[in-house]
Amino acid sequence: MELNTPLNTLPGIGAAREAALGKLGLHTVADLLSHFPRDYEDRHLYPNIAALPQDVPVCFQAMVAEPFHSSYIRKGMTVTRGRVVDDTGQVDLTFFNLPYAKKVLEEGRSFVFYGVVTGGGRRAMAHPQFQRAEDYDAGDPIQPVYPLSAGVSNQRLLELMRQAMDCIPQIQETLEEDIRRRYDLAPVALAYRGVHFPKTWEELEVARRRLRFEELFCLNLGLALIRTRREEQPAAPFVRQDLGPFLENLPFSLTAAQLRCVQEAAGDLKRPVPMNRLLQGDVGSGKTVVAAACAVLAWENGCQAALMAPTELLAQQHHRTLSELLSGTGMRVGLLTGSMTPAQKRDCRGALEAGEIDLIVGTHALLSGPVAFRRLALVITDEQHRFGVDQRSALAAKSGQGEAKPHVLVMSATPIPRTLALMIYGDLDLSVIDQLPPGRKAVETYLVGQDKRQRLYNFIRKQVGLGRQVYLVCPAVSEEDPEGLKAAEQYGRELRERVFPDLRVAIVHGRQKAKEKQAVMTAFAQGQVDLLVATTVIEVGVDVPNAALMVIEDADRFGLSQLHQLRGRVGRGEHQSYCVLVSGNRNPQTRQRLKALCATTDGFALAEEDLKLRGPGDFFGARQHGLPQLKLASLAGDMRLLHQAQAAARAVLEGDPALELPQHAPLRRRVEQLFRENRDIFN
Ligand code: ADP
Ligand code: MG
Repeated sequence: MELNTPLNTLPGIGAAREAALGKLGLHTVADLLSHFPRDYEDRHLYPNIAALPQDVPVCFQAMVAEPFHSSYIRKGMTVTRGRVVDDTGQVDLTFFNLPYAKKVLEEGRSFVFYGVVTGGGRRAMAHPQFQRAEDYDAGDPIQPVYPLSAGVSNQRLLELMRQAMDCIPQIQETLEEDIRRRYDLAPVALAYRGVHFPKTWEELEVARRRLRFEELFCLNLGLALIRTRREEQPAAPFVRQDLGPFLENLPFSLTAAQLRCVQEAAGDLKRPVPMNRLLQGDVGSGKTVVAAACAVLAWENGCQAALMAPTELLAQQHHRTLSELLSGTGMRVGLLTGSMTPAQKRDCRGALEAGEIDLIVGTHALLSGPVAFRRLALVITDEQHRFGVDQRSALAAKSGQGEAKPHVLVMSATPIPRTLALMIYGDLDLSVIDQLPPGRKAVETYLVGQDKRQRLYNFIRKQVGLGRQVYLVCPAVSEEDPEGLKAAEQYGRELRERVFPDLRVAIVHGRQKAKEKQAVMTAFAQGQVDLLVATTVIEVGVDVPNAALMVIEDADRFGLSQLHQLRGRVGRGEHQSYCVLVSGNRNPQTRQRLKALCATTDGFALAEEDLKLRGPGDFFGARQHGLPQLKLASLAGDMRLLHQAQAAARAVLEGDPALELPQHAPLRRRVEQLFRENRDIFN
């Protein structure tokens, strides 16, 4: 058996099991050995039944006291019950739909059980795992639990893993000895053995630490290599930099944070290598004007800039805003969206090619069709997670600059805790607007139950009476909604006809035609609508300063970050603004989440809270930030290790910047493997 031996050549692996393993990404012995347990079960035996604690998983040996018996509860449900004993006590066992337990658990025989003890007077255990006492291996008391798919049991994976163990000595070491010594890391063979078959918890921790370090180390190396590669590409340097007239023309002065971000970007743009900067700032922090400043720099240097928005609505709004912000400069700002007529699009494309537009704002329409630029040297995207890497490079290909690559500025309101962001993006490439424009009043946020509906309606009426406008957001579009959530369309009609016949109520949702949506949003922006019932189409970016109340129905259905984004739609003007979260959900965790939103308006604090409550899994998922999925390490929890891995990576690259030395070949392969699915991230 070799590391590259296909699993289907092993005994007992037929087509069905091969397919099931394939679903887990397991094709070879090497894949199998890199399939790490997601958890471990402590199978150390408690001395006797009397010593068993309750409500935690325990392992104990006992004898079957009487024959087990099965009974039908209802169709498709059998319960098998029995009793096991030792000298100190007894436990009632129950199995559901496991009639074979009755056969195996013979009276008078001893077994080892694993499960959770419950019950007051009488100890009980539901659905324990069990094995014959003579099969219990006291030398292997820590049992790995693997991520599974239908068709492969944990037991089966364990057996396969035992066979694969023989190949562990073939795994190449990726961490040189001086790194291992310096950071006190186990050699590779020990780590693999320890992670799959730890003899002790200490051994497991030693193994896991080494493997987590390796992941973070490779992540850092990969990111650094990507950055180096990018820096080898040419870009147009924006050497002329005079923002004076632009800044003097603005209706406000920039905050210190905005100014710093502009300077950071300007510094990048001066260089003949492509900028790749993430501009991070909470909703309302004023990212647009920073983007405008960058566009001015492009223009001063005879180049074009493009701003890509995720939706038509946002593109139109950005077009309006930027036209105003740039009105004193003489720059020509254009708009290109899907809903324009073919003739309008043709004109726009002609103007782009002729260089008659300096800043083009658009949606995906910018990418489709025969767009060509005269000299596109700066691409700005709003909300990175809706605008993929492929799309950005597609735009780069049409830039008309030959070999030179455009500079890229990515604006995002998704807050990443700062230490983490610095590590992910490196200190060169992140700008944070950590300050709101002056005079903003914090949005007051309340959580209310369904019983307060009448008071809520009164409050809406009162706000409208004061001349304000109101958003009301529902999670779903139509009434074919099994869970009875407030559906925008149906609920909007009800509000318009029954509750607020005297108010101007409009409805907007994602399934409407672009034109229809646009008409509604324009009417709202112009103050012709009092109450806008909407789905999350209004989530990002829409700017109506007169809107002072945001009501979110079934708020528990949204993530914290999304709720925070929604709330950012109000509080953009001079009026005291409010956000009301409506939820009948009584789950304590859910309520804690929603209360966190009431307690703070700091997006970064909320991001930390979200992280705590939901775990790093979805929050820092590869999808959102374009990073490879890590198996063992956590970007959120392993700060110390992260810094060590970062330092180690820096040291290695100092001696071998492209990771080309022969002794680094195994390491390079590992890095490439980690970035297999993300080859072009950040390019
Ligand atoms: P976001 O970061 O959410 O995209 P915007 O760029 O839309 O924020 O800015 C939010 C609002 O704040 C806009 O109405 C904008 O005109 C205003 N604004 C931005 N910067 C300042 C500033 N320095 N002083 C006053 N108002 C500002
Ligand atoms: Mg914005």
